[in-house]
Amino acid sequence: MLRKKSLVWHRLDLRTADNPALWAATQDGSEAIPVFIWAPTEESPWAPGSASRWWLHHSLQRLAEDYKRLGVHLIIRQGPSLETLQSLVRESGADAVYWNRRYEPGVISRDAIIKDRLKSDGITAESFNGSLLWEPWEIRNQAGGPFQVFTPFWRHCLSKNPPLPPSPVPQLVRSSPGGPKSESIASLGLLPSIRWDVGMEAAWTPGEAGAAANLGVFLENAFLRYGEERNRPDRVGTSRLSPHLHFGEITPRQIWHALKNAGETLGWPETQWRQSQFLAEVGWREFAFHLLYHFPNCPERPLRKEWDNFEWPPLNQAHWEAWKRGRTGFPIVDAGMRELWATGWMHNRVRMIVASFLIKDLMISWTEGARWFWDTLVDADLAANTLGWQWTAGCGADAAPYFRVFNPESQGEKFDPRGEYVRRWIPELRHLPAESIHSPTMRKNEIFTPTAPNAKTAYPDPIVDHALARNRALAAYTRLRNPAGV
Ligand code: FAD
Repeated sequence: MLRKKSLVWHRLDLRTADNPALWAATQDGSEAIPVFIWAPTEESPWAPGSASRWWLHHSLQRLAEDYKRLGVHLIIRQGPSLETLQSLVRESGADAVYWNRRYEPGVISRDAIIKDRLKSDGITAESFNGSLLWEPWEIRNQAGGPFQVFTPFWRHCLSKNPPLPPSPVPQLVRSSPGGPKSESIASLGLLPSIRWDVGMEAAWTPGEAGAAANLGVFLENAFLRYGEERNRPDRVGTSRLSPHLHFGEITPRQIWHALKNAGETLGWPETQWRQSQFLAEVGWREFAFHLLYHFPNCPERPLRKEWDNFEWPPLNQAHWEAWKRGRTGFPIVDAGMRELWATGWMHNRVRMIVASFLIKDLMISWTEGARWFWDTLVDADLAANTLGWQWTAGCGADAAPYFRVFNPESQGEKFDPRGEYVRRWIPELRHLPAESIHSPTMRKNEIFTPTAPNAKTAYPDPIVDHALARNRALAAYTRLRNPAGV
């Protein structure tokens, strides 16, 4: 008797464990044929950026190796998703296609068309929740609408049934000979032609095993101090799971249950780990997807409609370049932008500082910043990136008020008190003591000390006066709220 075959269409779920689509494909003894299709134009205008492509290349390699160990061949193709799936169905004789859902508006529409077309071809087509604790449509406020404030959203989430335990890697049937042929991962051209990825290679281990290792290290070393240290870019106080979560190498469900186990080992009551700050941050990720799903225009348009009328001045090219290159003369901003360029990641506190600086000190629109992050972050995620930028700008749901303008000097002093983070990323300032490293005025005096003869030419003076820039931003905000000037 011929064995049934099912395609498993991998997207942002580059793992074999706790994968509902893979699980479903194997439960009746079918041969699961895992497939990845590279079709970036279908995700336009949010096709993966350069850093994401780097991660994707390595994550696909790990996934292919993991499957190989299980006797299964990962099929790589490029081309339009629907036609490629239809062709793979014909080539393999599969009668079902399974995948895990994505929530970006363009991808939702594409997937709906694909599902309809496959079904009308007589193929079983089913999608699953493989990346969220709860589906965005399962969480509703009392009026039946979406939440727009995090605290009641998360309280409501925690009152729901807890997520089921994660599923293991399913029993897989070895790939039958003569199955569909694969293109090579290299042929997708995801790696840069100029080697700017050396720092990223040193910083990350993409793939399911790398994700599990990161979670283990975090729970062992940083989880208990997370509440105090999560705002300190000079420490390793956070999990660094964001790119692994984005590419679906680990699931929030696995994290939930790992925290539960850690709590039990520590003898904590259930409420203690459930109400932990760390789980709440995973909750912010859920909140970001909730907003993206219910407000699909939010990557381009402010959630608060009045912000459509904000008067952004013409883009100052010199300021824009200085921000991107980490040469604004504000050390905490420049350290963050250089960390981003070198590793594809930036600490959350520093993301807020550099975003506030771009939007309020330089008065460059949050959409420009979001685009730059999209290209340079290895964890670039439409939901979380949009939420982060709109939050900082003050035009989003549950956002920081616009008039809260971060002072880069005092933020540096507070969250990098010894200047260690700045020294790590700005070699020109390595000689400076903690007392003056964040202060443009005090630094001016230090610069002439004999220990740093070349520092003046090497590190720029501040490109704006923060106090004046703050006033300019606040005046623009006042005009937005009171356009008639009365
Ligand atoms: P941890 O502190 O260990 O948190 C655990 C997980 O919770 C993270 O991996 C992440 O998945 C989630 N999380 C934490 N904070 C947030 C948050 N504020 N919003 C949504 N999810 C959160 N995060 C992205 O994953 N992709 C982005 O493109 C992105 N862009 C951002 C842009 C700006 C301007 C700002 C202010 C924040 C952005 N964030 C983004 C959120 C946050 O900075 C990162 O998730 C976090 O720094 C990742 O580090 P970590 O994994 O060590 O986080």
